[in-house]
Amino acid sequence: MIETDVLVIGAGPAGSSAARFAAKGGVDVIVLEKKSEIGFPKRCAEGVSKKIFDKLDLEMDPHWVTNEISGVRFVAPDGTDIWLSEDQIDLPDAGYVLERKVFDKHMAAVAAREGAEIRIKTQAKGLERQEDGTFIVTCESMGKTYDIHAKIVIGADGPESHVAKWAGLNEIIKPQHMVAGVQYEMCNAKMKRNDYLEFYFGSVAPGGYFWLFPKGGDVVNAGLGIITNMAEKSAYEYLVDA
Ligand SMILES: Cc1cc2nc3c(=O)[nH]c(=O)nc-3n(C[C@H](O)[C@H](O)[C@H](O)COP(=O)(O)OP(=O)(O)OC[C@H]3O[C@@H](n4cnc5c(N)ncnc54)[C@H](O)[C@@H]3O)c2cc1C
Repeated sequence: MIETDVLVIGAGPAGSSAARFAAKGGVDVIVLEKKSEIGFPKRCAEGVSKKIFDKLDLEMDPHWVTNEISGVRFVAPDGTDIWLSEDQIDLPDAGYVLERKVFDKHMAAVAAREGAEIRIKTQAKGLERQEDGTFIVTCESMGKTYDIHAKIVIGADGPESHVAKWAGLNEIIKPQHMVAGVQYEMCNAKMKRNDYLEFYFGSVAPGGYFWLFPKGGDVVNAGLGIITNMAEKSAYEYLVDA
């Protein structure tokens, strides 16, 4: 059986960060990622604050930043809009628009350089806690099933975490705390300003908002999130109509 000190399940930003710092601390780390390509497909509008890079101890790299953001535009249900620039407010959620499929791979590579072993196309299928407090995780990769024995398991498998469920944690997300979201990455976009994130509120996205995050050139992430019990149709239909 494969032995490791730390087993991280999921190679998103959370898993790769955890793996990086655990490996840096000198322990053996394995990361499992069920997808064949880290960071793709994305479920993200890719807008981030510049501040996160200090927290993550990462230098900004133009390979994974597609656009720099200097402000936000909010559009009210009646069409009234307000433009806020970085000079006017401290923007917590603006800064850059990323290319997640590059950024997530970069973060995994940073973890690997610290010594973490990354196993893609490998899905954790179950977890069993041993009497001594260690864990056996069953994995499946390309038709083969095998076990990994780990002293610590980090569940970084995203919002629908199975690891939390297997570990007996309170993983139930109530429907009223869930939003339905859908997004297209589109070209031919004509934004009023290409360095502003735009948010539209009202019937365009009941209970949530419609967003346009410019990725540079004529490319945008155009998406929306709705609260389903306030909506009259699916998130996809709202997006098509937006
Ligand atoms: C529509 C939408 C728009 C968003 N926009 C933004 C935004 O603009 N800015 C922002 O900061 N955040 C945004 N977010 C949130 C952001 O995408 C998440 O917070 C972020 O991806 C969470 O990172 P994570 O590492 O926790 O999980 P994830 O990125 O979800 O990574 C989890 C990984 O675990 C893997 N995995 C799952 N189960 C297993 C398993 N059993 N075995 C092995 N691997 C497994 C998955 O394949 C995945 O790669 C958005 C989210 C959505 C849904």
